[in-house]
Amino acid sequence: WPEGHCGDVNSTYFNEGDLVGVLTTQPLGRPLDYKAPEGGCWAGAFVEVPLGPRKVVGVVWGPGQGDFDRARVRPVSRVLDVAPMSDAMRQFLARAADYTLTPLPAMLRLATRNPALGETPAMRTIYRLGDALPDRMTAAREKVLAVLEEYEGLSFTLGELAEMAGVGTGVVKGLVAQGAVREEEAPRDGPYPPLDPDHGGKALTPDQQAGAAALRAGVRSGRYGTTLLRGVTGSGKTEVYLEAVAECLRAGRQALVLLPEIALSAEFLARVEARFGARPAEWHSGLTTTERRRAWKMIGEGQAQMVVGARSALFLPFRDLGLVVVDEEHDTSYKQEDGVLYNARDMAVLRASMADAQVVLASATPSLESWANVEAGKYARLDLTSRFGPAVMPAMAAIDMRVEDLPGASWISPALQGAVHGRLERGEQALLFLNRRGYAPVTICRACGHQIGCTQCDARMVEHRFLKRLMCHQCGETRPMPETCPSCEAAGKLAPVGPGVERLAEETERLFPDARLAILSSDLYGSARALKAKIEEIASGGADIVIGTQLVAKGHNFPELTLVGVIDADLGLQGSDLRAAERTFQLMRQVAGRAGRAEAPGEALLQTFQPEHPVIRAILGGDEEAFWAAEAAERRAAGVPPYGRMAGIVLSSPDVQQAFDLGNHLARHDAPLRRIGAQVFGPAPAPIARIRGRHRVRLLVKADKSAPIQAALAEWTAQVRLRGETRMAIDIDPQSF
Ligand code: ADP
Ligand code: ZN
Repeated sequence: WPEGHCGDVNSTYFNEGDLVGVLTTQPLGRPLDYKAPEGGCWAGAFVEVPLGPRKVVGVVWGPGQGDFDRARVRPVSRVLDVAPMSDAMRQFLARAADYTLTPLPAMLRLATRNPALGETPAMRTIYRLGDALPDRMTAAREKVLAVLEEYEGLSFTLGELAEMAGVGTGVVKGLVAQGAVREEEAPRDGPYPPLDPDHGGKALTPDQQAGAAALRAGVRSGRYGTTLLRGVTGSGKTEVYLEAVAECLRAGRQALVLLPEIALSAEFLARVEARFGARPAEWHSGLTTTERRRAWKMIGEGQAQMVVGARSALFLPFRDLGLVVVDEEHDTSYKQEDGVLYNARDMAVLRASMADAQVVLASATPSLESWANVEAGKYARLDLTSRFGPAVMPAMAAIDMRVEDLPGASWISPALQGAVHGRLERGEQALLFLNRRGYAPVTICRACGHQIGCTQCDARMVEHRFLKRLMCHQCGETRPMPETCPSCEAAGKLAPVGPGVERLAEETERLFPDARLAILSSDLYGSARALKAKIEEIASGGADIVIGTQLVAKGHNFPELTLVGVIDADLGLQGSDLRAAERTFQLMRQVAGRAGRAEAPGEALLQTFQPEHPVIRAILGGDEEAFWAAEAAERRAAGVPPYGRMAGIVLSSPDVQQAFDLGNHLARHDAPLRRIGAQVFGPAPAPIARIRGRHRVRLLVKADKSAPIQAALAEWTAQVRLRGETRMAIDIDPQSF
């Protein structure tokens, strides 16, 4: 395809019989030749093609290669009834594949995982709340009605509704017969209601106005550009980037707002609705099949002006993307394995640069990567310096745990207890933060000292008392809590060691028997929806004390919350990971920022055994620029990201020797890396040395910022032949080093 931007214009049309190259998600490496079907097709068209005896979905990637016997080239079976993929999107997928060293078909899979490419009728039956009451209420009926009430406005098919309520479809049908539930025919893929950029804008402060003006100018330019939008929680970053969205809507282009999955709350959508007069399209794992299908199709046709989504929304087939906002850009959940290992923040920048779109990275505690890009002149920077309205950043202080008098198996210091009491008396909310799911991180046998571990992973089993099970947080495997020690078989000797949020809740209940408690931990809720419902409940004052894992750090607004108590501020500082300081700083500042959003001023108390640790001091002092300067100096000296480039190569196998042999082979044959001045470290056991029964061995590659690391890695890793059960995963810009 041609170099440069083609926007939403699909540049090429192929006439019937022309040779086209069709890329499928089959692991074949490159597009295969087919003949364009009757009536021809656009480049980018989604098509079905014969492959051996099967038919598979693919995308017309460009002209065919013509290196096959033409007479044997088969025609495309049919063109699917969805808009073709834009040139910009195909360029993005190709570049992303190169960057992450992922085969193109695997990259394409991210962009084709949706129900719109299957066959479905144009109409469907949906179920809504009816006007009548059932003659007799049963528990099952109540569940169905509760789901419909809770998600009023959403439409469900019969199967979806029954599944969400956890009942059989007969229960729903029974309610329909009585008029308590209504059955309606609805078009499957209607467009979204139009958004009005001028519907509900707020009067901005001068600070916010300046920021909004700069972002609007960027959007109007119609070119690529990235801006780091920085400001404490509550300073109005959302308000300001919604102005950029408004400008994008005025320009007739599409806007995407990415949020960490869990922050996709009804609160946020309601806010967008208040601003633009209608709901945007959503994209996340909580959608029903029907909603996914509609979103995907309408986005492709340019009928969805704005999308609010989780990281996978980057792979939606936007017609004409003009703006991508990455909210909470520092959030580590943006980097994940999702078939492909990618960082959504970096991919957003790549996607936008292909589409001549603007990027806004918003955060109260930006990543060091983004700071460095500002420093290097690649990103613009906007600062919102104060909180909106009367609220200020909470007062922060350390509680020195070396001098607190705490009995065994308890974690809430007298100082923190006192602060919580004060909140309860005033009718305000308190948050106790502990970044550990479950009841206790370790279960030990008091007879023989054995610690229960996962049989498949190099990890301890974590007791989850609500589930009455032990769980491995690496592979998710669970088993019942044993009665006797698995090692010495002593009975009644197993004891929990250390706190998880469930155990902390127990202590809290003991200390504050009259307070209403809520635990916010991802594993306690069956679905994303149930979790969101809990968050809303807390936000509307349904709890006095919230006990939370890092879930709570992510942008929820709890207006009554005025105290944050961090149970173990030292937790993230253990280990040798060079990113530990950055992560702890961000997490602590984010969590502290939960306190005092509304009129009441907030307070954050950090329990620590090392109050003079430089990171703890920086968190308390709040001098962000100084902290980043020190961090930057350290990373620069070590030549690691963001000032150098790194890649992690993980070799895994059920046979540890095999993994090490391959690792050693690579380490010995490092000529392609030496040629670009890169160094190899390892092989050494990976940070988690065994997962799901596979031993993991890691090599780290370090190179100069400007070195062509991808090409060298490709050449280097091509030297090993993976046999049997051995696998290799390449992680560009690893999260830990
Ligand atoms: P951030 O995204 O930086 O955390 P928000 O945009 O969520 O900040 O703003 C915090 C709160 O203050 C929100 O409830 C928001 O509606 C309100 N707010 C911010 N700026 C203004 C403004 N100029 N006028 C009215 N309300 C505002
Ligand atoms: Zn495990």
